[in-house]
Amino acid sequence: MKIGKLQLHNSLTRQKETFTPLEEGYIGMYVCGPTVYSDVHLGNCRTFVSFDIIYRYLKYLGYKVRYVRNITDVGHLLDDGEDRISKGARAEKLEPMEVVQKYTLGFHDMMRIFNTEPPSIEPRASGHILEQIQMVEDILKNGWGYESNGSVYFDTVKFSKEKDVYGKLSGRIVEELLVETRELKKQDDKRHPADFAIWMKADEEHLMRWNSPWGEGFPGWHLECSAMSTKYLGKTFDIHGGGNDLKFPHHENEVAQNYGACGCQPAKYWLHTNMLLMNGKKMSKSDGNTITPEGLFTGDSPHVTKGYSPMVVKFFMLQAHYRSTMDLTDDALQAAEKGYRRLMEAQKTLEGFSADGTAGQVDKEINELLDQAFEQMSDDFNCPMALARLFELVNKINGLRDGHLPMAELSAATLDRLKKDFHAFTHDIFGLKDDVADGEDGEKMDGLMQLIIQLRNNAREAKDWPTSDKIRDTLKELEIQLKDAKGVTTWTKA
Ligand code: AMP
Ligand code: ZN
Repeated sequence: MKIGKLQLHNSLTRQKETFTPLEEGYIGMYVCGPTVYSDVHLGNCRTFVSFDIIYRYLKYLGYKVRYVRNITDVGHLLDDGEDRISKGARAEKLEPMEVVQKYTLGFHDMMRIFNTEPPSIEPRASGHILEQIQMVEDILKNGWGYESNGSVYFDTVKFSKEKDVYGKLSGRIVEELLVETRELKKQDDKRHPADFAIWMKADEEHLMRWNSPWGEGFPGWHLECSAMSTKYLGKTFDIHGGGNDLKFPHHENEVAQNYGACGCQPAKYWLHTNMLLMNGKKMSKSDGNTITPEGLFTGDSPHVTKGYSPMVVKFFMLQAHYRSTMDLTDDALQAAEKGYRRLMEAQKTLEGFSADGTAGQVDKEINELLDQAFEQMSDDFNCPMALARLFELVNKINGLRDGHLPMAELSAATLDRLKKDFHAFTHDIFGLKDDVADGEDGEKMDGLMQLIIQLRNNAREAKDWPTSDKIRDTLKELEIQLKDAKGVTTWTKA
């Protein structure tokens, strides 16, 4: 193990706690994945990028991490009771599973573009119907649910009365909860509006349906995460994560179901990311207040004045703590672009350094800054503070380069550590890669690309489609993408 204590903020206790894994050296982490009925928006990406950095840092510390992130492809209903996937299927005239495939692939592409690592296991809800039926049976057997007209409900009222658990995670007062609970379909079948479906009877027109002991139906949305986390990580595991908009009802009901079936709290630590806002409002599909990552990369969106590369967008995300909201604005992205370039340039400068001095003041300060950067990461994954220490190191690197700081005060051992740790932060922990044109090579590359774009534009004007297609296809093979927006062609490395 490289670093000592890791502190993390546990949503369950609302406190920072020292992290102790259930089994030394191992971590089980479950994160709620996307509902694949439309393209991911940048808010979703923020949550998944945050957990990717958490995953990477835990591994950096030396833990063996089993990271499970599901794909929701059934059961997540809209307010009118229609399944999100079915609605997508009707709208696009596709099979539900075609919708699932299309948007799962799109999600994977986006995660790759943001240079996030795939989870260890990515289970789909529709592939775990048996496990979910089994869990409903366990809940019924233990007396925490009831069947009504082909559906099965969790008895929230009984559970709240007999166990002091419901409402603890989301900080809701049970009495109020029982009053204000959102109306769900099949209201008449329930004993109380606060009860929630763990299995739902399928209407005649319902597309996604399975046989069960209660007739044809489909699992309730919350159930999939309880069933799949238990299957792959056990009844109790270390970390459960998701966006904080999932705390209620999704995570609260997950806890209830796990108690209902297994008699225990599923996760020791609950981590919740905060929301990405756009112009001060939550970015959300249902409110239409979204920007697609592509819109941001190409600049083809009324919200930005130009395109920003995926790594610039990722760098922008790193500048806020995962538990704070962050507001997406064009100004903030422009500042992020400058910061990102500065960081990458310093990395290159550093790689060219060699030193054989004797440890002096500079040496000491560099070691202190590196220690502090890791301390910040170990303090509830404080990326912005760790980044601030890295930028102090950037000042030192530039000072050494320009001769303002004496290279003679830098020992070979410290330079070695600086190179290793700096690279560990940018590449292994933050998962950044050099995708903007910077430095001399970058300028040359950009110059060549402008020439190629010009040649392609000439071919297009002359309606020489074979040549323009050849240019585009060859670039694609080289993983370089051209985007045409607002009459300007830009290029990015895929
Ligand atoms: P969904 O596909 O709607 O189930 O959302 C997938 C994940 O993205 C969940 O963990 C949500 O909490 C999260 N999420 C949704 N909107 C935002 C947002 N504006 N900012 C950050 N995370 C979000
Ligand atoms: Zn979930």
